[in-house]
Amino acid sequence: MQAPLPIRQDLVLIGGGHTHAIVLHKLAMHPLPGVRLTLITNLVDTPYSGMLPCHISGLYDFDTAHIDLRPLTRFAHCRLVMDAAVGLDLAARRVHCAEHPPIAYDLLSIDTGSTPATIAVPGAADYAIPAKPVPQLLQAWAALLEQVRQQPDRPVTIAIVGGGVGGVELVLNMQVRLQALLAEVGHSQTPLTLHLFHRGEDIANGRNCSTRRLLRRHFDRRGIKLHLQESVVAVELEAPDRRRVHCASGLTVGCDRVFWVTHAAAPGWPKESGLATDEQGFILVKDTLQSLSHPEVFAAGDVATMVNHARPKAGVFAVRQGPPLFHNLQAALQGQPLKPFRPQRQYLNIIDTGDGSAIASRGPFTFESSWMRAWKNHIDQKFMGLF
Ligand SMILES: Cc1cc2nc3c(=O)[nH]c(=O)nc-3n(C[C@H](O)[C@H](O)[C@H](O)COP(=O)(O)OP(=O)(O)OC[C@H]3O[C@@H](n4cnc5c(N)ncnc54)[C@H](O)[C@@H]3O)c2cc1C
Repeated sequence: MQAPLPIRQDLVLIGGGHTHAIVLHKLAMHPLPGVRLTLITNLVDTPYSGMLPCHISGLYDFDTAHIDLRPLTRFAHCRLVMDAAVGLDLAARRVHCAEHPPIAYDLLSIDTGSTPATIAVPGAADYAIPAKPVPQLLQAWAALLEQVRQQPDRPVTIAIVGGGVGGVELVLNMQVRLQALLAEVGHSQTPLTLHLFHRGEDIANGRNCSTRRLLRRHFDRRGIKLHLQESVVAVELEAPDRRRVHCASGLTVGCDRVFWVTHAAAPGWPKESGLATDEQGFILVKDTLQSLSHPEVFAAGDVATMVNHARPKAGVFAVRQGPPLFHNLQAALQGQPLKPFRPQRQYLNIIDTGDGSAIASRGPFTFESSWMRAWKNHIDQKFMGLF
């Protein structure tokens, strides 16, 4: 039997997001001789964004909607370091972690996602539940469901701040789950009110007119209160289990929980470490997914911004970057030329309405049916089948 090649290079991955899950899968299928792999992640169960809304609605259980990084890293012969990266020493090529000694790399790849921006709004950090990190969102959601189960005759009011696709899918799917739970415990008459606050003129910005019209129709028909052109300026604690949302217009709404799904914000440490970033702190990358300032550092998913191809921060783009990132990491380690990657401008977007239907759009075309829901389920199950 041939002895394994000695370790000559260290490839370190930070974050087990969508892109790195695909890279790990490919590394398992095509091992790189002489390369030691390390994944630093603060989470071993990566939520798959495509299935998250239907996990909230109760359609998919936890395992179905999450990628377990433990077997994936074992399969790829990758060291798994359970920790959060907190900084980089770019000159010495080391990753600083919250709890482990620094980890050396020859090549580094970052896929740590984004978080909703909250800091500027007084009270939001203390009294609202951000959509990310997802485990905290799911924990808060489970606690709310338990409270409803325990006190089914108490009226339920939920506020969601942010009317992008994430906020819209969340509110539609939360409503379905809460209605089903109240029916389950024999209290379908308990008042259930959902409010969506959005600063813009219309929800699901970036989607075409017909998609937005169909979504507004869902809101009307299902009695979800839509507050357009309302900027939330404060969240306060009214009573131990009661919050109040204040808008710039003077509108105030009392509620049991506030979920915060505003635009994506970047973590601070990449910029503080000296990587080139855009003004929001997202790592600037070239078409090869290499950092603009440090070619030995790659970045993908929400945490990265492609200088030549700005796209929305969405799971679909993070997934698409998996194969080119794998190719370029492999090429860089082997001293081969890297390939540029150009993300699609138009892509099939499917919004799950939670009630068995889905709205699909691509460019100017829109189509809604239960068929689309089945198609989305097929695509998502196929993707998750990889892991
Ligand atoms: C409610 C909601 C619904 C959404 N629905 C959709 C949808 O239907 N379709 C769609 O395309 N997009 C959707 N999105 C957006 C989507 O979730 C993100 O675009 C996607 O998750 C980005 O993937 P990523 O690979 O960049 O990072 P992520 O999936 O966020 O993964 C990053 C990982 O890195 C880990 N990590 C973070 N920081 C560190 C650190 N310092 N050290 C180590 N590990 C770290 C995190 O714990 C996480 O596991 C939704 C978002 C939300 C909030």
